[in-house]
Amino acid sequence: MNRPFNFSAGPAAIPVEVLQQAAADMLDWQGSGMSVMEMSHRGKEFISIYEQAEADLRELLAVPPEFKILFMQGGGLAENAIVPLNLSRAGAVDFVVTGGWSQKSAKEARKYASEVRLAASGEQAGFTSIPAPSSWQLARGTSYVHICSNETIHGVEFQELPDLKALGCDAPLVIDFSSHVASRPVDWSRVGLAFGGAQKNLGPAGLTLVIVREDLLGHALPTCPSAFDYRVVADNQSMFNTPPTWGIYIAGLTFQWLKRQKEGELTGIAAMQARNIAKAELFYNFVDQSQFYLNKVAGNCRSRMNIPFFLRDESRNQAFLDGAKARGLLQLKGHKSVGGMRASLYNAMPLEGVQALIAYMREFEQSQA
Ligand SMILES: *Cc1c(COP(=O)(O)O)cnc(C)c1O
Repeated sequence: MNRPFNFSAGPAAIPVEVLQQAAADMLDWQGSGMSVMEMSHRGKEFISIYEQAEADLRELLAVPPEFKILFMQGGGLAENAIVPLNLSRAGAVDFVVTGGWSQKSAKEARKYASEVRLAASGEQAGFTSIPAPSSWQLARGTSYVHICSNETIHGVEFQELPDLKALGCDAPLVIDFSSHVASRPVDWSRVGLAFGGAQKNLGPAGLTLVIVREDLLGHALPTCPSAFDYRVVADNQSMFNTPPTWGIYIAGLTFQWLKRQKEGELTGIAAMQARNIAKAELFYNFVDQSQFYLNKVAGNCRSRMNIPFFLRDESRNQAFLDGAKARGLLQLKGHKSVGGMRASLYNAMPLEGVQALIAYMREFEQSQA
């Protein structure tokens, strides 16, 4: 099926096979006579959807048994409060600020933690690089260390998660992996908790994924809402309250799509990673050799998922966007805090989409000469 290429940062493109399956199931899911949206979350039909989704995700991301997978609501922004409500123990917490999202997270945590410390910040450098972990000022006795492992707005990504133990810190690492979950493997030995909204790389808005090590459960502040207490959510298989059933179903179809993906010998997330590397390299190489376009992020932390780029002559921005849209290249406008353009190359973006974008960018440059 021929659809435009959608470069939105989120909610973002969903694999067309997933949308087609959802359309086919819409009125009658597998002979049940019901749409998934109409099912009791406690009925055997939905329980089977939920169990399959959880098992597929655990397999895809190689989530170890000592981690719980929670399907929650509220998005990444709610987790900015829910994480400190559960993990701060009303003590101090450390943040590494590398862009707009970790900055937001640190601000929200101040409402719940007794102290929010800035262990390192990339702000001086305009969030175009990540301070080296060896330079982080991690405080003794911190309850956790928060990073955003892919900064959706500024386009910086941790190519390797920090090893806090090697830095002399025993606290759990919290990662906001909203915008690169399922684009690459996760080194769970370095992670205490990972959270992410689904609407970037897993499915529709409304579902929030939390993967948390079991020993971190059960320490919520007394004021923590029960529906946001990880212990309560885990003990009830994410069904303390009605979970986002439609989001879980679409994410489940996406997990099955991911399991079917192959790239040479590679399958699943490894295949996606190889494809994502190829897409990002193609795009960065094109921008780097250009006198017309520009990306400002340091080479060792360039995001594979979200690529902010600029026309050196910004007066041509609107013409660029109009021409792109006319060619079926959608939602390329950059975030308002950064300006310029942004191409989000999530899992659902095929290599052909990146090739089409580059072809258009060449053509646009020539048309402006
Ligand atoms: C999109 C995004 C969020 C916010 O998610 P909401 O669902 O809008 O709350 C948080 N963190 C990162 C890294 C994001 O990309």
